[in-house]
Amino acid sequence: MPELPEVETTCCGIAPHITGKVVKSVTLRHRQLRWPIPAVLKRRLPGQRIEQVSRRGKYLFLHTAIGTVIIHLGMSGSLRIAQKKDIVEKHDHVDIEFSDKCILRLRDPRRFGAVLWTQHPPTQHKLIRSLGPEPLSDDFTVEGLFQTSRKRQLAVKTFIMDSKIVVGVGNIYASEALFRAGIRPSTAAGRVSKLRYQRLVSAIKAVLSEAIKQGGTTLRDFTNSDDKPGYFQQKLQVYGRDKQPCVICGAAIKRMQQGQRTTYYCSHCQR
Ligand SMILES: [Zn+2]
Repeated sequence: MPELPEVETTCCGIAPHITGKVVKSVTLRHRQLRWPIPAVLKRRLPGQRIEQVSRRGKYLFLHTAIGTVIIHLGMSGSLRIAQKKDIVEKHDHVDIEFSDKCILRLRDPRRFGAVLWTQHPPTQHKLIRSLGPEPLSDDFTVEGLFQTSRKRQLAVKTFIMDSKIVVGVGNIYASEALFRAGIRPSTAAGRVSKLRYQRLVSAIKAVLSEAIKQGGTTLRDFTNSDDKPGYFQQKLQVYGRDKQPCVICGAAIKRMQQGQRTTYYCSHCQR
């Protein structure tokens, strides 16, 4: 599943290819994604210039003078820069073609992604306005996280994965950050001290920055149509390593179920 680092890398990867360009046409081959793609897109977007490409959480925004295209990659979506000669594959559901014939193409085999249109500021959209702070921004603070967590009984891992608390901390990054911070994932969020939240905030910022940095160096060329979506895996210290030795103490990494999610942790280093 594309996580925040992949979406950030996609944002940086496609922006230079489409920013400033004028949309020539929109092709919707399969409108039924997570929600139906609004048909109005085909009428409104042609003739509009992409003024900016930006990201909020895992949502990508293509800004124009009259509105914004909101894209979410869902479980399996990917964006690429295609050319007219490139073969359209089975799961290539949306094309936005520009006047220089370059095409922004959305592929989404599982169709849990979304392509939406809004004439209002996209940050006010109902899917987006209640999102928590960006983890790599100064808005994501120890004090904020600590205060919000008081009296919360739910597990700290579930707490930091809630996009209303902070966006973009998926299962892998939550597991890794809790390991680095030495916090047991099942501990009640309200019982974690401020000092430990300080370590956790630093760890979340670090794991996400490292993944984005790695994405910048290892990710596919966005113009290569043969490429796989190119989600990247950084060196993981606990995630997916059950029964293997902890990199710090050598004890066997454990796994447990938390809700629908599998959690990996070291019972010696994380308390
Ligand atoms: Zn350990």
